[in-house]
Amino acid sequence: MDDKDESLRKKSREVTVFDERLHQLLDDMVETLQDSGGAGLAAVQVGVLRRVFVTDIGDEVVEYINPKITERSGEMLSEAEGCLSFPGQYGMVERPSHVKLEAQDRYGDFFETEGDELLARAMCHEYDHLDGVLFCDLATEMLDEEEAEQWERQKAERRGTARNKARTARSRSRRKR
Ligand SMILES: [Zn+2]
Repeated sequence: MDDKDESLRKKSREVTVFDERLHQLLDDMVETLQDSGGAGLAAVQVGVLRRVFVTDIGDEVVEYINPKITERSGEMLSEAEGCLSFPGQYGMVERPSHVKLEAQDRYGDFFETEGDELLARAMCHEYDHLDGVLFCDLATEMLDEEEAEQWERQKAERRGTARNKARTARSRSRRKR
């Protein structure tokens, strides 16, 4: 994978001013994320080097400003993972199944939250973006679109789930971040 965008390698800076400009950035990021159908988006991916990311795994949008991961627990899961900045490219990345995180909301108020599986994966992936770390740095193996689809099919088969359930799992975990 070539670094087509140097800014993705830079470390983002803390947000200190919670003003209308920040709210506009968040609104734009949420719109971009929802248009893309991805699970998460970091500010650096839209060219803003601030410690901000958003996630949406289909149930609710969460905005994280100056986030800190406070706990990584559960089992380590190796799954095919993508990135909105690298369409069509996937990698097998090991992530914890459970993550706890502290952050501020758009008004500067602190909150704690936690996520499992896909949300935990999205939180870790987006958090890494804030430090210039990309999924390809952590991948044990890179996959193209076809290989990623094949991996998801095999995963569904391994789980032995009902057909419609497998389809849901496939489309959920194929969502890009
Ligand atoms: Zn990404």
